[in-house]
Amino acid sequence: MSRGTILLIEDHDEIADLVRLYVEREGFSLVHARSGEEGLDLFARRVPRAVLLDLGLPGIDGVEVARSIRAVSDVPILMLTARETETDTIIGLEVGADDYVTKPFSPREVVARIEAVLRRSEERSVSRDVLSVSGFTIDAGRREVVTPANDVVRPTAREFELLWYLAEHTGLVLSRSQILEAVWGFDYLGETRTVDVHVRQLRKKLDGIPIETIWGVGYRVESE
Ligand code: CA
Repeated sequence: MSRGTILLIEDHDEIADLVRLYVEREGFSLVHARSGEEGLDLFARRVPRAVLLDLGLPGIDGVEVARSIRAVSDVPILMLTARETETDTIIGLEVGADDYVTKPFSPREVVARIEAVLRRSEERSVSRDVLSVSGFTIDAGRREVVTPANDVVRPTAREFELLWYLAEHTGLVLSRSQILEAVWGFDYLGETRTVDVHVRQLRKKLDGIPIETIWGVGYRVESE
């Protein structure tokens, strides 16, 4: 029995064939789209468990595809980026992707990342815990935050995990590398600046959230 469908949106057939081999070996079914338009169409019809999304696509690019998917779904999105520049990776995460791998990648690594994002999204869906910080209600079951003004905000998956981690440790100063390890995982190869980018997004989306910058160290959610 299939472990579910993975949607791969990638215009290079050679890469797609290689990824297919490894993904199917792990028991998933794979559907392949060669453009963003085709990808969004397949996404709507097949309801995949996860999306592997190339950043550089003909027609609408990966960023637009990720935004369109994120507007309607919390499905795990793993970006495949060809360029190594930081901008690409940050854009990938800011549009709501859960993770990324840089080409050339080993298909084994892609499969490991798929397993990891699926595991995280399953952990999220069984959890029903709620934390409260300065009038903000952080609901892990619904993956949303209710502001003191009663607005409902849905941060990206990674932003939510970051906020949850900080809120769980209210009053403690957490270093950027501690945060990276806890929220992005031990095998994450990114830079600590990624944490800053996500904190900035949270502050923008949640006006008044008491995330304090501890200069030269990291962050702390102030206790009341
Ligand atoms: Ca491409």
